[in-house]
Amino acid sequence: MYDPKSMKADEFIDHGEIMETLAYADQHKKDAALIDSILEKAKLRKGLTHREASVLLACELEDKNQEIFKLAEQIKKDFYGNRIVMFAPLYLSNYCVNGCTYCPYHAKNKHIPRKKLTQDEIRAEVIALQDMGHKRLALEAGEHPTMNPIEYILESIETIYSIKHKNGAIRRVNVNIAATTVENYRKLKEAGIGTYILFQETYHRATYEQLHPTGPKSDYAYHTEAHDRAMQGGIDDVGLGVLFGLELYRYEFAGLLMHAEHLEAVFGVGPHTISVPRLCPADDIDPGEFDNGISDDIFAKIVACIRVSVPYTGMIISTRESPKVRERVLHLGVSQISGGSRTSVGGYVEPEKEEESSAQFDVSDRRTLDEVVRWLMEMDYIPSFCTACYREGRTGDRFMSLCKSGQISNCCLPNALMTLKEYLMDYAAPETRRIGEELIAKNMNDIPKEKVRKIVEERLDKIAYGERDFRF
Ligand code: SF4
Ligand code: SF4
Repeated sequence: MYDPKSMKADEFIDHGEIMETLAYADQHKKDAALIDSILEKAKLRKGLTHREASVLLACELEDKNQEIFKLAEQIKKDFYGNRIVMFAPLYLSNYCVNGCTYCPYHAKNKHIPRKKLTQDEIRAEVIALQDMGHKRLALEAGEHPTMNPIEYILESIETIYSIKHKNGAIRRVNVNIAATTVENYRKLKEAGIGTYILFQETYHRATYEQLHPTGPKSDYAYHTEAHDRAMQGGIDDVGLGVLFGLELYRYEFAGLLMHAEHLEAVFGVGPHTISVPRLCPADDIDPGEFDNGISDDIFAKIVACIRVSVPYTGMIISTRESPKVRERVLHLGVSQISGGSRTSVGGYVEPEKEEESSAQFDVSDRRTLDEVVRWLMEMDYIPSFCTACYREGRTGDRFMSLCKSGQISNCCLPNALMTLKEYLMDYAAPETRRIGEELIAKNMNDIPKEKVRKIVEERLDKIAYGERDFRF
C-alpha cells in the first residue's frame, strides 16, 4: 500500500503506485489541458508530484515538450543563475564484496586490479587535486567489511581535511559509500561530511534483485531505506540517483520522485541532490547487454522534468557524459559537474596505464579541470568552487528554507565570484585567467545589493593580494 510516510521501502516506493502512475501518464500523454495545468503548477516553482511529473515525461505533444524545456531553463536560471558548482570524485578503494552486474568492481571480476589507497597515497592524491584547484570532493569506495571498514573511511576523511598545501584546501567532502547503519552514519556526520550520496541504481525491486545477486547490497529494502538511516544519524543532506539504462526510465523517474516525496514527508526536507548517471562502458561491462539504454534526447527530457519537479534540488552530472551532452543538460537544470576526473583508484598523481586500469567506468569528458572551467566561462557560466553553506551550518531544512525563500541566491553569486577569483589566481592558465577576470567584472553588476557588492569588491582585491577563503 503506497504511503510516502512509511519507513518501509515497499510502501514509499510502492510498485503498484508506480505502475498506476505510468498507466495514468500514458493515458494523458496527449492531454493538452492536463499538461497545461501541470505546467501552470510547475511555474509556481513549488514542485510537482510524481504523477504530474510523469505526465510531463510521457508527453508526446511537441509544442508542450518545448514548453517543458523552456520552463526548465527558466527555473534553472531563477534558482541557480549561471553558476555551476565544481567537484571531483576520489576513489579510495575498489575492493568490493557485492555482485552488481553493471559494475566492474563486482566481486567475481578477477582480472581488474584491486587497489586501496593508503593514507600517504590519499595525501598525495589530495595534493594533486588541490593543485588542480578542487575544493569539493566526492569520496567513492566499494563495499568491503575488512578492506574498507568505516574506520578506514573516517580516517581518510580526516586525512583529506587536514591537508593544507599552498593555498589549497578541500573544504567539503561528500561521501558515496555503501548503505550502512545509523551508528556509522552518525560517525560520518561527526567526521564533517557534506552530502551522503547513495544511488538506488534501480527502484524496480525484481530488477534490483536480479542485478544484485550476491552481497549485502542485494537487500533491496536495506539499500532503499539507507537515506532514512542517514537522516536518523544526523546527516541532513542526502543525495539520490538512479543508473539510467538498467530499467525502464519512466519507472525509475517515478521512483526517484517518490523517494524525494518520502524524504520530504518524513523529515521535512527533500534530497539535497539528484544525480543522473547513465550506464556506460567499463572493464567487463558492455552497456549493450542491458536493454534499457536511453537516447540523448530522452536524457535531456529527464533532466528538464526533474528540474521543474524538484526546483530546489541540485542536479549532478559526471564525466560519464560527453562535453556535448553536458552542455545540453547544463541549460536544462544541472547545477554541479565534475571536471578533470579520474574514476580509478589513484590516478590524479600519475594516470594509470590502460592495461592496469582500475577504473569504475570510462570517462567521456577527458578534459582537464582548467579546460572545463574555460569552456564553462566561454558559455557565460560561472564555475563556482563554493562550499559555504555546509561550513556555515546551512544544511538540511535550514538550507531548504533559504532556497525556498530565494535568499540563498544572495550568497551564491558573491561566493561563486570569490571562489572563482581564488581559482584564477592560484591555478588557471593565462588565457583562462583573462576570460575569468572579464567574467567576474561583468557579473559584479548582477549582485543586487550595493553593500554586498562593495564587500565583494574589497574581498576580490584581498584575494588578489593573497588572502583566501572568504564567504557569505
Ligand atoms: S556498484 Fe558499488 S557495490 Fe556494486 S560492485 Fe560496484 S563498487 Fe561494489
Ligand atoms: S552559497 Fe550555498 S547553495 Fe550557494 S553555491 Fe555556495 S554552497 Fe551552494
